[in-house]
Amino acid sequence: MALLQISEPGLSPEPHARKRAVGIDLGTTNSLVATVREQGAETLPDLAGRHILPSIVHYGEEHQILVGHDARARVTEDPLNTLISVKRLMGRGKADVHTLDGVMPYNFADKEGMAAIQTRQGAVSPVEASASILKELSDRAQETLGGSLVGAVITVPAYFDDSQRQATRDAARLAGINVLRLLNEPTAAAVAYGLDQAEEGVIAVYDLGGGTFDISVLRISKGVFEVLATGGDTALGGDDFDQAVVGWVLEQAGVAANTLNASELRQLSLSGCAAKEALTTAETAEILFREKSYTLSRDSFNELVDPLVDRTLKACRRALRDAGLRADDVGEVVMVGGSTRVPRVRERVTELLGRKPHVDIDPDRVVAIGAAMQADILAGNKPADEMLLLDVIPLSLGLETMGGLMEKVIHRNTTIPVARAQEFTTFKDGQTAMSIHVLQGERELIQDNRSLARFSLRGIPPMPAGAAKIRVTFQVDADGLLSVRAQELSSGIESEVQVKPSYGLTDGEITRMLQESYTHAVDDKDLRALREQQVEADRILDALNVALEADGKALLSEQEFNGLLAEAEKLQLARNGSDAGAIKQAIDATSKASDFFAARRMNSKIKTALSGHSVNEFENKAE
Ligand code: ADP
Ligand code: MG
Repeated sequence: MALLQISEPGLSPEPHARKRAVGIDLGTTNSLVATVREQGAETLPDLAGRHILPSIVHYGEEHQILVGHDARARVTEDPLNTLISVKRLMGRGKADVHTLDGVMPYNFADKEGMAAIQTRQGAVSPVEASASILKELSDRAQETLGGSLVGAVITVPAYFDDSQRQATRDAARLAGINVLRLLNEPTAAAVAYGLDQAEEGVIAVYDLGGGTFDISVLRISKGVFEVLATGGDTALGGDDFDQAVVGWVLEQAGVAANTLNASELRQLSLSGCAAKEALTTAETAEILFREKSYTLSRDSFNELVDPLVDRTLKACRRALRDAGLRADDVGEVVMVGGSTRVPRVRERVTELLGRKPHVDIDPDRVVAIGAAMQADILAGNKPADEMLLLDVIPLSLGLETMGGLMEKVIHRNTTIPVARAQEFTTFKDGQTAMSIHVLQGERELIQDNRSLARFSLRGIPPMPAGAAKIRVTFQVDADGLLSVRAQELSSGIESEVQVKPSYGLTDGEITRMLQESYTHAVDDKDLRALREQQVEADRILDALNVALEADGKALLSEQEFNGLLAEAEKLQLARNGSDAGAIKQAIDATSKASDFFAARRMNSKIKTALSGHSVNEFENKAE
């Protein structure tokens, strides 16, 4: 019989013990998968040696689904069943996408509240189409790496909201992928360049792809990325450069664009794109149109695209302004997206930001590579101290509850954007207003935390204590802005406040607050238990006193009355002390001792009601 082998702690018996984890750049036009191997992070090619997978899915006859290059081949012949750019529809309802009706050729349908596209295989949601793309990449990775994956880090645009992120997670689940984390695309690019290792600094990530432009301003501080601002243009990219070249050729040829048929136009667009890409390295490029050749120089091309580049720079300036920064506050610039290969783009960005951008990693692959590096760490292939914290809130956010306690609603290290709701209730009978105190920090008592904002919710319908339902929603957007909204559920009245939790908070302070929470963890826990018991004792004492005053004389003998008063005194005594256990005991004792009184009050109420008085009337009198 073979013996089971056990290796020495810390020594792995085989070189392949690295856990298989990947980074996936799920792009609008193209997607990629990357992993970290012995030799470093790299994207993985398909069997034909192609790294890029076009983000296109074709729904053919007999349930056939094609993904990537094969699907792209169907775009022109079968456009309605070939889905492109589904990322633009992720997490959107049908009502949200009607603006795309003209832009996208599809017939939109509604599927479980989400926008879906009508194909010959039925309505397909963007989540399902994205799942097919993810599955293709995950299959490729499993075949290349020789086994199943522990998980994947999937990138999303920094401006994706909660529902768009949830849709991305759903797509991964549908593809059978365990999501280690969703990572912002600009953060992934910064990680690929090792910029997360910097102690502190501001990073601008300029991402110019085929059809979209994104600018993100990030702040890195001790491994924590914060998105300071995002901006861009969802309809500006390399495709527009191609069209600028097309326009130039038509002008040279003296031909009006609307006289070209669809196939001629497509052919010319492809030639324009090829010329554009050639001009990245060559000084001139030839374009053939109606059997004549036109020579485009780099200089003329630069002039053609300058207005487009201007638009990206304008968005950069706006994002910097939103972040409250000037161009020279930017420490590092990272270039992402195929169109940042265009020399003119690099020149102008360098000029604006006064920094040479990072361009050494292939701009098509840099996001996937950063995601793979993050996946490698999250899968546990690196020592724990190299663990990164990314796009997270550094300190918990919550609000003040009875007893001067902080109730955390969003815990520290939660990735943003995030929304969490929690229900609270009133403490007193007939309470019509609630004061909401928003706090930041890790400690149990409010005075040990940072006060962020206060606001009140007024107009709560009067109800017995504990009956009102107030839903408080905390939402932190991708830029770190916190909105707190309180809503009373029966009447719908609501009130809201917005704050920037990072405002005026230095890194030193964050560290101090965290350290204090560790050193006081035990005291804090005891204090919280004590405060909770005190609040409960107050509630019981309040109720008992009200009841004694109302019905004590009528329903109790003098001995019983005094007995309950003595119980209440004992409870009050315990409550004033600092022994949570003793208070708990006194609460239990008082509850037990007063049970018979509660029962009598109930009976008496019923009798009163039967004798022609309403319970309400009785209760009003009792108050
Ligand atoms: P997306 O982010 O939209 O998926 P990519 O980042 O893959 O797009 O960028 C695609 C764009 O990059 C296309 O417009 C393509 O023509 C352009 N591009 C790729 N290589 C070059 C090059 N060498 N020179 C100029 N543009 C290029
Ligand atoms: Mg991209």
